Amino acid sequence: MSLSKYTEKRNFDKTPEPGAKVDKSKGQLSFVVQRHKASHLHYDFRLEMEGVLKSWAVPKGPSLNPKDKRLAMMVEDHPYAYKDFKGIIPEGYGAGIVEIWDKGTYSTIEKAPSSAAAEIKLLAGLAAGNLKFTLHGKKLKGEFALVKLKGRGENQWLLIKHNDEFAIEEYDSEKETLATSPINKWLAENKEPQKKILPNKP
Ligand code: MN
Repeated sequence: MSLSKYTEKRNFDKTPEPGAKVDKSKGQLSFVVQRHKASHLHYDFRLEMEGVLKSWAVPKGPSLNPKDKRLAMMVEDHPYAYKDFKGIIPEGYGAGIVEIWDKGTYSTIEKAPSSAAAEIKLLAGLAAGNLKFTLHGKKLKGEFALVKLKGRGENQWLLIKHNDEFAIEEYDSEKETLATSPINKWLAENKEPQKKILPNKP
């Protein structure tokens, strides 16, 4: 657990992103999914562990369809407070708009006697490259797995929905986003969203 990479990449005189502080939830562990319009639109999937947020960039967004195996690139740990972050990142690393797409708590699939015990099991799954968990969000619910791809570089994982009562046959995370979201408003006003970098004011 280290936030040194997070700190190295950012200039906190310029970015409104939270500083590198370790903290933790009082009860259940937290998760967040942020939608991020940087040079490319993507989703950032984050799970609280050991006082930081383990983080994956998911280009196509999470899915509730078990057949969608979403590529998830593991990135640097983010501080716990990042779970509440939304806003504009100015020019520099990750420049663009961040909005919170879903958030809630998460747990091991099999009930653990305490959140500390759950965390130990989750950390073991992370280390083994096979992390299974249950999300309790507004949009994302039920069992998921993050599975590390072998022989495909260090950071490539797949985010997969397990087939349970929350599984859906067709799912598009973009359609689950309000037209009034800050990113969608910006996209609607800008004709070349993939080429343009953000203005200073949204
Ligand atoms: Mn991002």
